[in-house]
Amino acid sequence: MSMENITARELRDKIAKGELKSVEVVRDVFARIEQREPIIGAYISNCYQRALEKADEVDRRVTAGESVGPLAGVPIAIKDNMCTRFGATTCASKILEDFEAPYNACVVEKLEAAEAIIVGKCNLDEFAMGSSCENSGLKKTVNPWDYERVPGGSSGGSAAAVAADMCYAALGSDTGGSIRMPASFCGVVGLKPTYGRVSRYGLVAYGSSLDQIGPFGTNVGDAAMMMNVIAGHDERDSTSVTEQAAPIPDYLAELEKTIEGLKIGVAKEFFAAEGLDKEVEKTVRDALTVYEKMGATLVEVSLPHIKYAISTYYIVATAEASSNLARYDGVHYGHRTKNPRDYIDVYNSSRAEGFGDEVKLRIMLGTYALSAGYYDAYYLKALKVRNLIRGDFTQAFEQVDCLMCPTVPEAAFKIGEKIDDPLKMYLSDIYTIAVNLAGIPGISIPCGFNSENLPIGLQIITPAFTEDKLLRIARMFESETDYHKHRPNF
Ligand code: GLN
Repeated sequence: MSMENITARELRDKIAKGELKSVEVVRDVFARIEQREPIIGAYISNCYQRALEKADEVDRRVTAGESVGPLAGVPIAIKDNMCTRFGATTCASKILEDFEAPYNACVVEKLEAAEAIIVGKCNLDEFAMGSSCENSGLKKTVNPWDYERVPGGSSGGSAAAVAADMCYAALGSDTGGSIRMPASFCGVVGLKPTYGRVSRYGLVAYGSSLDQIGPFGTNVGDAAMMMNVIAGHDERDSTSVTEQAAPIPDYLAELEKTIEGLKIGVAKEFFAAEGLDKEVEKTVRDALTVYEKMGATLVEVSLPHIKYAISTYYIVATAEASSNLARYDGVHYGHRTKNPRDYIDVYNSSRAEGFGDEVKLRIMLGTYALSAGYYDAYYLKALKVRNLIRGDFTQAFEQVDCLMCPTVPEAAFKIGEKIDDPLKMYLSDIYTIAVNLAGIPGISIPCGFNSENLPIGLQIITPAFTEDKLLRIARMFESETDYHKHRPNF
């Protein structure tokens, strides 16, 4: 049988019943990686030998009649900004090209405890800063639907690996849209959980008050299955929320249950946004009609402060980044310059040689926003506006169960199209960024294709800690349509 078009859930069950061998599945995935990776470039590193050994362990346990973990034998990829004790953790930066982490990220521990098979680490924009993967300091990733286009970013490698069937699910991180945006461009499902739901321990920090790890899958059920494994409190991350404060539901248990009388908020600001592509708008409006046919009602809502989201984000995120990235100085971590003139030059040259342009730009912006005399005018002001944006969502959720909008204002753009104009690039995140500022969950699901056969994503947003409901709402659309079943040709 073909192992290519089955879901991660089906795969896991077949492996657990002994109908499929994980070793065979891993070999099959690596055969596709060998064929497709030279074109797509989704991975920074792969661990074939280790994957085979882990798969063999699962198969042996199944044969011995033991019960196996919830992801037993399933090949999974992770973004290369999550620490692993095996292989390097590069963040797609020259400054960390040879960095070997001394510990595993919490999510890596959890995946392996669930007996997932990690097959490799995926490309990203350097330190997760970008929307196209073009800021990677190490390699280029292309969109599996059109090799002249970007896969989105920053978790572009993870999304492309799932779309090109070079793994069955993946993890990404999302600071301002980095899971949802590439999910939209690559035609897969991508979920950013509530801030605090998944431990950030071992995730290399970009904007610590915004960063959140989440899953990619080809379908909503697989994202729910991944959430069941990665969600939860971790005392090593002080911002991770306890299960007493916010209980963790079984995300799969009620997934198929539709929500009666669903009220969908349609924010007028989202549809009036400049730069919203006509085909994207139409596809998303058609998706709303699918929900209406299932009995949902559309309610117009307003998010009056959303117009400040991008500016607010670029103060908060860069301020936090300038502090988080101070540790890469050639002494504490990372690349060290070869022949420094003196000890100050160790810092200066190591950083100048190791960081790429976008990262330097952001460190400068963030340092400026935090500097004496500007702190009140920029950083403090941004924190106040952030609160207003959060308030907008709270108010909207008093009237509706969820909000829906496009994930990105357009389908995947051409490689090189925006790289020289950072402001244009930043506008790609106009629909996703506010969700991180508010700390709430959002998902992107495939909802159609444009006339060039490029995938389009629908974003659904719900209140904090309601990922169960979010996944159910997403699943409702999936059960009525088959866009998620389309795959790029190889
Ligand atoms: N594109 C945004 C940025 O460059 C978001 C990135 C992310 O979510 N990591 O900051």
